[in-house]
Amino acid sequence: MQVLSVTPEIFPLIKTGGLADVTGALPVALAGKGVTMRTLIPGYPQVMDAFKKKKAVHQYPLLQGGKASVHAVAIAGLDLFVLDAPHLFDRPGGPYGNASGADWPDNWRRFAALSQVGGDIAGGAISGYKPDIVHAHDWQSAMALAYMRYGKAVGTPSMITVHNLAFQGRFGAGIFGELGLPAVAMALDGVEYYGGVGFLKAGLQAAWAITTVSPTYAQEIRLPEFGMGLDGLINMRSTDLHGIVNGIDTEIWNPETDTHLVSSYTARTLQARTPNRVAVEDRFSLDRDDSPIVCVISRLTWQKGMDILAAVVDGIVAAGARLAILGSGDAGLEGALLAAAARHRGRVGVVIGWDEGLSHTMQGGCDAIVIPSRFEPCGLTQLYGLRYGCVPVVARTGGLADTVIDANEAAVSAGVATGFQFAPNNGGALLHAIRRLVEAHGASTVWTSMQKQGMKADVSWDKSAEKYVELYRLLLSKRAA
Ligand code: ADP
Repeated sequence: MQVLSVTPEIFPLIKTGGLADVTGALPVALAGKGVTMRTLIPGYPQVMDAFKKKKAVHQYPLLQGGKASVHAVAIAGLDLFVLDAPHLFDRPGGPYGNASGADWPDNWRRFAALSQVGGDIAGGAISGYKPDIVHAHDWQSAMALAYMRYGKAVGTPSMITVHNLAFQGRFGAGIFGELGLPAVAMALDGVEYYGGVGFLKAGLQAAWAITTVSPTYAQEIRLPEFGMGLDGLINMRSTDLHGIVNGIDTEIWNPETDTHLVSSYTARTLQARTPNRVAVEDRFSLDRDDSPIVCVISRLTWQKGMDILAAVVDGIVAAGARLAILGSGDAGLEGALLAAAARHRGRVGVVIGWDEGLSHTMQGGCDAIVIPSRFEPCGLTQLYGLRYGCVPVVARTGGLADTVIDANEAAVSAGVATGFQFAPNNGGALLHAIRRLVEAHGASTVWTSMQKQGMKADVSWDKSAEKYVELYRLLLSKRAA
C-alpha cells in the first residue's frame, strides 16, 4: 500500500513541535507493516540544503506566483517529495514566520501551493507514482484534500490528522479566487468558513477519515469548550472520527543509547541518572540537594498552562521541589518565569530557547516533568518522561489523560502507577499534585516503582501504527465499495 503523507514539518529536517516527530516517525513505523509512506514537504532552506542531486520529477511553470518543481529524494532514511518553490519557501526564519516570530503574510499562498501539489500527485502528476491514500496533517496541508475532492483525485481515499485544533488556517474570502478551485468549492460544505476560507475546515469536510492524536481529545473536540468553533462539523463527521495516540521514536529516545546524556542508564541502573541530574543542576544553576527536580520542556503559552504554573511557583518551591524550565513563547510568560527564577535562586532555573540536546538531558536527569496544559491533543513530553524515568505530572486532559496512570492508592498498591494527574486544571490542583509528588519522592520504593513502571510502558509506535494501517485498510475497502 502506498500512502502519500503531506506535511509542513518532519523530524529531523524541520520541527516546531510534536507534529514533526509524528510525521518523521510514522513512515518508519509503517514500513514493516506493508505500508510505503512517501512524504511531501516544502523546500525550506534547511531541506534544500540537505540533498545535492536536484533532478525534478515534476515542474510548474507557475505555482502561486512563481516557478516550482518537485524533487524525489531520500534524506535521513525518509522518502520525500520536496516542493522547491523559492518564492514561497526560500526565506530565513521559521517555517511559518520570520525570525521575530511574525507569521508570513502569504502563508495561505505557501500552504495552498503545498496542498495543491499534494492533490496533483494524488491525481497522477508524477509518472510512476500513484498513492492509494493521501494522509494530510493540520491546516497547512488540509487543503490537499479539497484539491483532491474538486480535482482529478476525487476517488482517492484521504485522511486528515488534527494535531491541534487551535491552529485552523483562517483567511479572508478574497483569497479564494487565487486558490484555483472551482466556484462550487466556496460553499458551506466546501472551503467556506464564517464568510472566509478555512483550510483546516476544508480538510475536515473533504477527508474520508479524520483522526486526532488521542482518544480523549477525539471526544473533547466534539464539545464547544474544546471544539474551537469546529465542534459542529466534527460532530457531523463523528462516524469517521478516530483517536490514535502518538508513539515516540524509541531509538532516538532511548536512555540506554542516548548520546545527549552525560550518563546512559536502564530501568535496572537508575542510579546512573545522577550525572544527568548534576548536569541539569549546573545548567540551571540549581542547588545540589536531594529534593526532586521538576522540569518543564514546552512552548511557553496559554495552551500549555504556563500562566497557571507561573502563578504557583512560590508554592512549588515551598512544597520542597526545584524547577528547571526550558522553553520559549509568549514574552509575558517568559518574563514571569524569569522573574520567578530571580526570586528563587538555586530553586528555580529558566533557560529561554530551543535546545534539543538539553531536552534529552533533562528527561534523563530530572525527577519529574510537569505538563499543566489546558488542552493537549496528545503531548509527547510525558511519553519521553515515561521512557526516561522522569515521572509525569499532568493535567487530566486529551492525550495526557490517556497515557499517564495516576498514583492513586489503588494504582500504587497494584504497582501500576506511572505518574500524577490533576483536575480541574488550576493552581490549587497543580500544587496539590506537586505535594503528592514530593511525598512520593520521599518514599523511595514507591518512587522507583513508578519510574520502572513508566519505563516499561509501551510508548512505541508499534500499536498505533497498527491502528493507522487498520484505518487505511478500511478506507481502501470503502473505495472498492
Ligand atoms: P506541541 O507539539 O504542542 O508543542 P508536544 O508535547 O506534542 O507539544 O511536542 C513538543 C515537542 O517539542 C517535544 O518533542 C519537546 O521535547 C519539544 N520541545 C518543546 N520545547 C522545546 C525546547 N525549548 N527545546 C527543545 N525541545 C523542545
